[in-house]
Amino acid sequence: MNPQRFRSLFAIITLIALIVPLSLISVRLWGGKPEKAEVPAQLSITQEMTMAQLAKANSLPAELLKRAFELQPGQGQKLTLAELGISVDEARTRIIQAAAIASEESTKDWRKIILKFALWVAFLVIPFVLMLRGRVAPKARKWLLAAAVIFFGVALGSDPSPMGTVKDAIVLYGSHNAVFPPRMIALGVFLLLVIIANKYICAWGCQFGVLQDFIHRLARKPNDRNSVFPQFKPPFVLTNTVRILTLAALTAAAFLWAYDIIELVDPFKIYNPMHLGVAGGISVGVLLVASIFVWRPWCHFFCPFGLAGWVFEKLSIFKIVVNYETCVRCETCAKTCPSTVMEAILKRNRVIPDCFACSSCIDVCPTSSIAFRARRRTMPPPGEWGTEAARKQAQ
Ligand code: SF4
Ligand code: SF4
Repeated sequence: MNPQRFRSLFAIITLIALIVPLSLISVRLWGGKPEKAEVPAQLSITQEMTMAQLAKANSLPAELLKRAFELQPGQGQKLTLAELGISVDEARTRIIQAAAIASEESTKDWRKIILKFALWVAFLVIPFVLMLRGRVAPKARKWLLAAAVIFFGVALGSDPSPMGTVKDAIVLYGSHNAVFPPRMIALGVFLLLVIIANKYICAWGCQFGVLQDFIHRLARKPNDRNSVFPQFKPPFVLTNTVRILTLAALTAAAFLWAYDIIELVDPFKIYNPMHLGVAGGISVGVLLVASIFVWRPWCHFFCPFGLAGWVFEKLSIFKIVVNYETCVRCETCAKTCPSTVMEAILKRNRVIPDCFACSSCIDVCPTSSIAFRARRRTMPPPGEWGTEAARKQAQ
């Protein structure tokens, strides 16, 4: 085998062989919070039941009923649903909502979540400043990705993640008609980061995104311009269509059958290997092998946050911009970009695919014509690239 390929494969296999046992140790050290808590599927309710009878018949804690029916302190266990003016159907909906929220709370390790968000804020400043200065060299990129895999994945686990906030919000609302406020705040923070700086959180902070990216970079030559393996850049129309269909299937299954179709194959569980299962193991294996040939396959083909982030990217303040005054049309940036997005940015195509703010295009430009700035993208000189229609559309 070609020695470069051998070296890359060795590095990738070693990486995965380290991640799995280290993640197991990390989960153990954090101590056990359940992965999932049950929400009652069947409830036995009549309007004449008192709160105490309702709790006993359904093995529900009194605290949960207090929350479900907004009972005031001192309101007794002897109150019936009829006295509260609540119908059986409404009572069922309220209890299931309250149980779903309680189940979410019982699975969250708040120490970990707070630490992770604090670390995200502190860590993400580093690549941001380096990108502004155009200084993310190939080696630095690999070190940053490795650090992100260790901090946000191995040390701090599979939850929370940008992907999980969208998926779990849809599943919770679809299956139990409930909203978990802390998750909506986290989702708001992630989308705000996209509005500030492209898919920046995905590039340097998402634990599974950085792992796929790191594997892809390990499969590339040391200058990070091309791969030692065949490299494929699937067309955006294909990746986005599959991604939209995945989101539609996730939403339909949640609303129609209260089922989470991603749960079984969730690749983020590589950081929680005890809960990976056979389907999850196969899914992670396929995605990590695919990452050698295709950049971030999960992000481009399946991730619900990937899709939401792509929509919000249109509002991004900081983004990749081209200076056409100095650009010599060599297209080195487009060839080096691991996806089709740089070509679309360069030629100002009508549809711009996901830009993960990885900065590969910046450091290969021979005339320093590409930058990461809070600026509007300008148009290439007429006749250079793209069609007139696309140009007008973009103006
Ligand atoms: S698009 Fe990729 S990086 Fe972004 S949340 Fe999804 S898996 Fe993570
Ligand atoms: S255009 Fe491509 S190479 Fe440049 S930052 Fe975006 S994803 Fe990376």
